[in-house]
Amino acid sequence: MSGMGNLSGKTVLVTGASSGIGRATALAFAREGARVAVCARREERLTGLEPELKKAGAAAVLLFTLDVSNRAAVEKALNGLPSEWNTIDVLVNNAGLSRGLTKVYEDDPQNWEEMIDTNVKGLLYVTRTVVPGMVERGRGHVINMGSTAGYMTYANGAVYCATKAAEKAISEGLKIDLMGTAVRVTSIDPGMVESEFSEVRFRGDKERAEKVYQNITPLQPEDIADAIVWAASRPAHVNIHTVVMTTIDQANSVVFHRHS
Ligand code: NAP
Repeated sequence: MSGMGNLSGKTVLVTGASSGIGRATALAFAREGARVAVCARREERLTGLEPELKKAGAAAVLLFTLDVSNRAAVEKALNGLPSEWNTIDVLVNNAGLSRGLTKVYEDDPQNWEEMIDTNVKGLLYVTRTVVPGMVERGRGHVINMGSTAGYMTYANGAVYCATKAAEKAISEGLKIDLMGTAVRVTSIDPGMVESEFSEVRFRGDKERAEKVYQNITPLQPEDIADAIVWAASRPAHVNIHTVVMTTIDQANSVVFHRHS
């Protein structure tokens, strides 16, 4: 979906842009002629993405490594952005992960720390640092990555689902907090998307990760990027609250159709 028009020259920050949905989103904004800032922990991935963003049409590109779960690092990186990058128009809070698929009473608490620190606290740290400038400038848009997991808990996924339920509550609350300002808040809530998500969840077990997407037509990262760019390119008075989207083979976070 290109040619939305009003994103040309806008400054966009995408967290977790080294892979999957974040990467596709950065490229989609580049195709709209936006100025695209990308961050994640893996620097070499971002370096590889840079020429692609330029080729896609980005008006300018900035990349920096950032662990969103490190509050001091978030504040330092985002408060220290070069002056031509510190007026962020669109923030895409995409960085996130799942760890393990296990019963709560048997799980390794380290998995919970990682998910809560990244998906909930990381999102809050970035939001807290970027949104005051948006309020001051009288424009801005926060787009958070939610999930169908935030609407209905699936087996062995209690804590991941809890982080996405938290994202939903934070998006709703932030929207209320921003009443009277021109800053918009959107939650993009996909079902199954084919990315490195499952490989990260199963800590590199590719075989197990592949099974997740077997005999099903999953959403692709580009499908989510489309929705994000669409929400960002509505007229300034239109706030898209949520976009809940799944593949045709998925009804909610527990009902799937596997092709035989
Ligand atoms: P992915 O391919 O694994 O990408 C996740 C991205 O997040 C990577 O770029 C990763 O980069 C980054 N990230 C993880 N922890 C980070 C941290 N502490 N600091 C900075 N960046 C971090 O998975 P994805 O599917 O694109 O996931 C993106 C978002 O979509 C997540 O919030 C996820 O919960 C959500 N989501 C995914 C699905 C799905 O089925 N795939 C469905 C609904 C929602 P580094 O490792 O380089 O830091």
